[in-house]
Amino acid sequence: MNKARLLQTFLDLVRIPSPSGKEEPVAAYAAARLEKLGIASECDAIGNLVARMPGVGESLLLTAHMDTVEPAARITPVVEDGIISTDGTSVLGGDDKSGVAAILEMAEVLASEKSPHRPLEIVFTVQEEVGLHGAKALDISRLQARMAVGLDAGGEPGTIVVQAPSQDSFRAVVHGRESHAGTSPEKGINAIVIASKAILAMPLGRIDAETTANVGIIEGGTATNVVPNLVHISGEARSLNSAKLEALSATMRLAFEHAAADSGGEMEVTVQREYNAYQLSASEPVVALVSQAMQDLGYTPMLVSTGGGSDANVLNHRGVSMVQISTGMQNVHTLQERIALADIASAVQALLRCARMDA
Ligand SMILES: [Zn+2]
Repeated sequence: MNKARLLQTFLDLVRIPSPSGKEEPVAAYAAARLEKLGIASECDAIGNLVARMPGVGESLLLTAHMDTVEPAARITPVVEDGIISTDGTSVLGGDDKSGVAAILEMAEVLASEKSPHRPLEIVFTVQEEVGLHGAKALDISRLQARMAVGLDAGGEPGTIVVQAPSQDSFRAVVHGRESHAGTSPEKGINAIVIASKAILAMPLGRIDAETTANVGIIEGGTATNVVPNLVHISGEARSLNSAKLEALSATMRLAFEHAAADSGGEMEVTVQREYNAYQLSASEPVVALVSQAMQDLGYTPMLVSTGGGSDANVLNHRGVSMVQISTGMQNVHTLQERIALADIASAVQALLRCARMDA
């Protein structure tokens, strides 16, 4: 591995803005890098970049997402003592450019040497941050691999994410009745009050060790002298346990419906399953493979659960057994995002080890 090249690749990538839906310049960069190594790639209809490196043994899929959260229109990376951060005006986008950089460095190393490795498939997805859309649109039937390693997690080297929750999102529209607040308040039905009652009646925050719920957005009202007739509320619920999530979503829906009925207002609630939970045991082949690789490198494999969803939720649900490993990303989705080059390098070592180990 060439750490100077890895750093340069990472800096190149973070300097290319790629908000969700506008990943094409990153895909073009990655495609050009792979092409120089003699590795052909292609973009699918939604924009995922897919490449293959033929080999011997059982196929392994390696994946990272190309989009970042904002603010990221202009990213000025700062490198100090092996730590990469920003000038404080944007996120770094190491979530998940660190994963893209690690996979490209692995490809560089494997392409430059002649030692055998297993068949590798590389997928760089789009629109992960806004609903895992790239992974959802990926044509799994065109992939050989039924095991995947994603590079979209934080933590110490050795961290292997084997469990993540299901998520439901909900959107509620509360209809009251508009009237003049000063001359005829009794004619009105206050939609903000209905929404407030509903929210107060809901279980929110941390429900238990594996279940959370949140109201994230509330919009409504037009003026202080108008009894408001319309409020929009959006939120979500997550659980590692699907039965608990279903019960929780039903409870939240009922809270809205009761509050509306009690006040003479009306309510429309839409609940949508965004992604499904997964849990892989230590004996699952991909978990065993990655754990062994970590052990061989001198890291203690740590099988962890996360509260966040990722492309792994989608692929696990679609028949590809997938873990996420850490690239060392820290403070993601904030202006204080940072990452140690040494941690990205550890992820490259883990990929190389997985690639070279027999299936
Ligand atoms: Zn990510």
